[in-house]
Amino acid sequence: MVIIQVLKCKNCGAPLEPTPEDIILVCPYCGFPNAYDELFEKGNVYFVDSVPKKEILRLFWERMRKDKDFVGLRGKIQVVKMEGAYIPLWFAKVRAWGYVKYEIYEKKDGKKRTVIKLNEFEDNYLVCISGRKSVYDIAVEELTKKLQKGYIILQDIRETLNPKVKLQPLKNLSVEVWENLKLEFLNVELSREEAERVVLDKSSDMAKSFHVPEEGKLLAFNFGGEVEDMILIFYPLWKVYYDIEGGTYFVAYDGHRKREILALEPNRIWRKISSLIAAVCGVAIVGLFSAFFGNPYFWRFVAEAKKGAALILAFVISALYFGFELARLSGRKMSWDVRVEK
Ligand SMILES: [Zn+2]
Repeated sequence: MVIIQVLKCKNCGAPLEPTPEDIILVCPYCGFPNAYDELFEKGNVYFVDSVPKKEILRLFWERMRKDKDFVGLRGKIQVVKMEGAYIPLWFAKVRAWGYVKYEIYEKKDGKKRTVIKLNEFEDNYLVCISGRKSVYDIAVEELTKKLQKGYIILQDIRETLNPKVKLQPLKNLSVEVWENLKLEFLNVELSREEAERVVLDKSSDMAKSFHVPEEGKLLAFNFGGEVEDMILIFYPLWKVYYDIEGGTYFVAYDGHRKREILALEPNRIWRKISSLIAAVCGVAIVGLFSAFFGNPYFWRFVAEAKKGAALILAFVISALYFGFELARLSGRKMSWDVRVEK
């Protein structure tokens, strides 16, 4: 038996042709995002309100007024484009467990010895990933990081998010609400199963960063994880593109919480100059300290220091390293024309 399901747009009544993967069906005639798919019936697909376009624009000009980098240049800034869209984001609650085995040196009674340590862990994480995979977007990446940060995961993901992110079931998206903003809904490209795999990968990285100590030698890292619950949230992301001195840059905003997510801005000349000064200092430090090595007085001094010799050498080598790194990193910054501010 063949079941033919006829679906009509909630806004204009035009016929829609759903595929089994669809969660949102954007009407080809009027653009209204029709909620579809059984996923949302179970209460796992949500959207959040966005502030209007003019509020984002107000935030943008307020920021430009406050930013010292743009003193005297504000008249030259021209907003060329504003983009807003609902980005699908997967939120998962993950139970993670495992252990870390590592080797460290310990000093006891003046003797050094190697000790093998074993730390077991069991954690709960809130993990947020993008539901898009075709286009890498640095602003979306930063949004997921900002959203998963600072929460202590409770029993339920919805409860956990609720104080800061007001979730509304997707089926509550009425024509009136949509007409107000007319924000485009971007397709979900990562299925629930694919999303689970990405979420577990990210959880494993999180466990590593929390539990693998910086010192010592890592012998083993074991990770197990389980996605206990997962919801999909359509989240508003705005970008304001502006031109200044022949370049185009942008500032991205969290349209729900009214926060700046990321700014791509020109590397102003005074920043380049301060990088140049830092690079010159780095070169000077390297020059000064490497001169020690060729100086016989220095070696005599080291020899006479006896027990302190190792300390003096370590100091000189660290200074050299510091100078070298300062020169290298500042030199690199100097040549950047674009700067990312998170
Ligand atoms: Zn329609």
